[in-house]
Amino acid sequence: MAADLEIQSFPLFIGGHWVPARSGETFEVMNPATGQVVAKVAKAGKEDVDYAVLVARTTFDSGVWSELSPEARAAMLMSFAQKIMENADELVYLESISSGGTVRRIALSDILQIGDLLVQTAKFVQEYKYVEHLPIPTVPGPAEGQVWREPIGVCAAITPWNFPMMLAMWKVIPALAMGNCIVVKPASNTPLSTLKLAELAVQAGIPGGVLNVVAGPGASTGEALVTHPLVDKVAFTGSTEVGKRIMHMASGSVKKISLELGGKSPSIILPDADLEIAIPGALFGVFMHSGQICESGTRLFVHESMYSEVIEQLASKVKDIKLGNPLSERTGMGPVVSKQQFDIVLNYIRLGQEEGARLVCGGKPAVVEGCEGGYFIEPTIFADVRNDMRIAQEEIFGPVLAVIQYKEVEEAIRLANDTIYGLAAGVWTRNINEAYRIARKLRAGTVWINDWHLLRSDAPFGGYKQSGFGRELGRHALDEYTQLKHVHVSLVPELEKRHWLGMLFG
Ligand code: NAD
Repeated sequence: MAADLEIQSFPLFIGGHWVPARSGETFEVMNPATGQVVAKVAKAGKEDVDYAVLVARTTFDSGVWSELSPEARAAMLMSFAQKIMENADELVYLESISSGGTVRRIALSDILQIGDLLVQTAKFVQEYKYVEHLPIPTVPGPAEGQVWREPIGVCAAITPWNFPMMLAMWKVIPALAMGNCIVVKPASNTPLSTLKLAELAVQAGIPGGVLNVVAGPGASTGEALVTHPLVDKVAFTGSTEVGKRIMHMASGSVKKISLELGGKSPSIILPDADLEIAIPGALFGVFMHSGQICESGTRLFVHESMYSEVIEQLASKVKDIKLGNPLSERTGMGPVVSKQQFDIVLNYIRLGQEEGARLVCGGKPAVVEGCEGGYFIEPTIFADVRNDMRIAQEEIFGPVLAVIQYKEVEEAIRLANDTIYGLAAGVWTRNINEAYRIARKLRAGTVWINDWHLLRSDAPFGGYKQSGFGRELGRHALDEYTQLKHVHVSLVPELEKRHWLGMLFG
């Protein structure tokens, strides 16, 4: 992996070209592992958003993309996958120096997942049912009926800082696959990889104007995009709080929306669980990416019969997580994304102690050699947590695990569901029938049995309750980027047989 480069400059990417912001303004992107500025990025104002949306609209209306055959679009998706693989090193580097994600994870998981999603979607798009033929009805009279799936038009994607590249592509891929054009606004901390992806799309042969990226703050750039009259759909991943605001703003022009929001996912260890799998599995479920994953298993329910043993084993195994510079391939856990997030997480750790939870390990900033200016926090485990404590109810988005003891399985299920969120959940057990029984009762969009974090390009991902609505990934995601049209062709040429006209004529 390359050593730190000099500060790079990124303009906006609109209409297939790099363009500066009209105002000439820029903002800085920091490396959370060192606290150093790594890039300057053009800050899109309202005029730039207007321009990007207009370009996307004109491109959509021209038919250069929206009227291509599914086979032709599939071929472009495959070529996009190829370009991403050719440029994987640079993408991994840009992602790591802005988000603090480890190169080990980004290279081994994120990049491959994006490639796989492109390849799988290229297949789905060719198999997709664009036209459904309805049976000929007898009432009120015979007619040929078809239901068409059409692209929506101009989509806007607003993405968070935790998995900037992947979460942008979870929107870009299905949007493009179904013939839409899109304008993406990445989070201000992490716009670099998304801007680079837009350039690669054009190099892959996707026409300019199909994928555009405008960087800037949520409150100005984001709101300009969400309220824009020429945007037909908004796909958002981020906090539940901002999701509610997006929902409200999108109502102004009745846009279609999909929301992937926060989580506080429960992980239940049953008394018969194989602890050799469940202990590292539960830690993997919560401490990957320093706990900054929406579906992290942040609440761990443990049966009273094994409670002390599990806590002891968790505290022992957590020592095997190696904190370090995310650019080193030896690092398992990097920093949190920013000073702001660092302060939020440390405040929650203080709060947990005030609420009476028992700090088992961690709980303070970690010092990492060579990264003294970075925002590292020790993996932190709280025991004796009650499900009604704020550290068990609120999304911390940092390396903090809350362990909760239960007596009866039904009690664990009730507590697991006692949250405003419903993104993911999991069960650790050797009894698969019991696992399925519990999975049916858990109100979450994804349930893992003896696993965590493993998502697939062909399975839908999304939330129950205040974790949002709409689904990403898989065939189901394609539906989110289409609208339905019913086309009716009369099969009754004789006027006298059109008895329904009698409702009006005497
Ligand atoms: P955030 O809600 O603060 O920001 C997300 C995006 O929205 C950013 O691009 C931001 O600039 C933009 N934004 C902020 N205010 C806006 C406004 N008023 N109008 C338009 N856009 C606005 O979230 P974050 O802090 O970047 O990310 C962390 C959150 O994302 C966590 O709550 C996490 O659970 C959630 N998340 C959810 C999923 C999922 O799939 N459900 C995945 C990853 C992250």
